[in-house]
Amino acid sequence: MEELRSRLAKVGRQLFADGLTYGASGNISARMEDANKCLIKPSGYRFCDLEPEHFIVVDIDTREVVEGDAKPSIETPFHTRLYQLWPEAGGVVHIHPKHSTILSIAGREIVHMGLDLYQAPALAKGIPLSRFAPPGTEELADNIVKAMKDHVACLMPQHGVTTIGRTIEEAALNAKVVEALAELQYSVMLVAEPEPLPDSILERLVKMAREKGLLV
Ligand SMILES: [Zn+2]
Repeated sequence: MEELRSRLAKVGRQLFADGLTYGASGNISARMEDANKCLIKPSGYRFCDLEPEHFIVVDIDTREVVEGDAKPSIETPFHTRLYQLWPEAGGVVHIHPKHSTILSIAGREIVHMGLDLYQAPALAKGIPLSRFAPPGTEELADNIVKAMKDHVACLMPQHGVTTIGRTIEEAALNAKVVEALAELQYSVMLVAEPEPLPDSILERLVKMAREKGLLV
């Protein structure tokens, strides 16, 4: 468990260093060896200040705090629902990066362009735009679970991005690539209508993700 705590803190600080989150917004979690429990970021902590001991142990089925003094993230409902939906998911990342949020507000889905997808090929399956619901609500959890039934990422209107992976590092890379795709699309939209990669390449990428053993 100590190793997982350190990995979570490292991922959180890296997301901050990469400019993908600021202040206390966003949250991350990882499933523990005891598959019915996860470690989740405490509410109100800045990503740049995260230390291994800050993470809270939460029971995935009851959402009760098993260990830790601080309050678990407000978004604990959708983290736990995603672990229930995807038994092989080992990590969940939720952030509010600029370009993904702009596209979500514009009601635009991500158009798969460019070669960043090769870094996170499971995203080639699609990145749906979920329905809006207020932060921290069961309705938001319902909407995310619906959007991510067959996908490892979604955009959340007026809000940000949520991703999963077999590990917390895989979930973080998926989130980073979603934002890279959104930034690219935002720039392309200034000069032209975005053109997606051919279906044959997207299908090959999904196959590649399966062969690599990624969550897809
Ligand atoms: Zn949020």
